[in-house]
Amino acid sequence: MDELVLAGDLGGTNLRIAAVDADGRLLYRAEGETPRHSDACKIVDAVVCLASECLAAIGSDGEVRGFGLAIPAIIQSDENRIFSSPNLPELNGFDLSGELTKKLGLSVTLENDATAAAIGEHWLGASRGFDSSICVTLGTGVGGGIILNGKPVRGPDGTAGEIGHICVEPLGVACGCGSNGCLEQYSSASAIVRMAGELLKEFPDSKLRCIENYNASNIFECGIADDLLCVEVFRRAGMYLGIALSGLINVLNPEVIVIGGGVAEGWELFIEHVRAEIRKRAFQQPAERARIVRAALGGDAGIIGAARFAFGKTA
Ligand SMILES: [Zn+2]
Repeated sequence: MDELVLAGDLGGTNLRIAAVDADGRLLYRAEGETPRHSDACKIVDAVVCLASECLAAIGSDGEVRGFGLAIPAIIQSDENRIFSSPNLPELNGFDLSGELTKKLGLSVTLENDATAAAIGEHWLGASRGFDSSICVTLGTGVGGGIILNGKPVRGPDGTAGEIGHICVEPLGVACGCGSNGCLEQYSSASAIVRMAGELLKEFPDSKLRCIENYNASNIFECGIADDLLCVEVFRRAGMYLGIALSGLINVLNPEVIVIGGGVAEGWELFIEHVRAEIRKRAFQQPAERARIVRAALGGDAGIIGAARFAFGKTA
């Protein structure tokens, strides 16, 4: 019998669970919506429902070793306890792994979603073969995961890798974390939409004026068509990301920095501005060493990383 694990990615919007083998192949996947604005038990039920679908689909063909679940939260990993989950506040302080273990009869390990993505990319994706890597996920927010000497860095309070909350503008936009001017307020999808709105007055000819409820993809498409407002928005997003990455390059000396998430689709509009800031700000040798690459696993990075630690591997 093949050895399998269940692995899941609990996002603010979507919940995805898969049966994964020891080579990282997704043998079966089940997807649904994350119950929003409800109590934590509804989330437990949704996870149990999709996990049971996966277990039924693989039947007796595999021995399931455990269940790894990536969640958008700060987790105190030695206790498997959810410390803070800004996007799913009903999970704050909730014993999610304990409840799932009771209902599924499997050992359940929780991991921060961005750290899980870093582990996934390190195992089978863009940072494979490198001992020290940083993974930045530019989505609704900005997530980060750090792997040093082959091991994920989590810290005793689980906040290591919170790259989205590095300050890049001291008197800047207020952030949900309580600080001001965090990277998340300048380089996430929601920041791109906000910055575009702020610039509309300065660019009366922008095509964006004709799009109702535009999103980051609209802004990217207009930018590719040389709309000056949209080009400027991505320049700013890239510049701020470059400022944060310059500090990380100096401090951590990574071999590779992997950039993923929805905003990475705008790569060609922002990456040169990221590189320019790094050349300007970071020490020359670590800046030249650090390869800046696009994520390879797309939306599966978190699930693949969650599978990796469900197999008991550290990275
Ligand atoms: Zn913040």
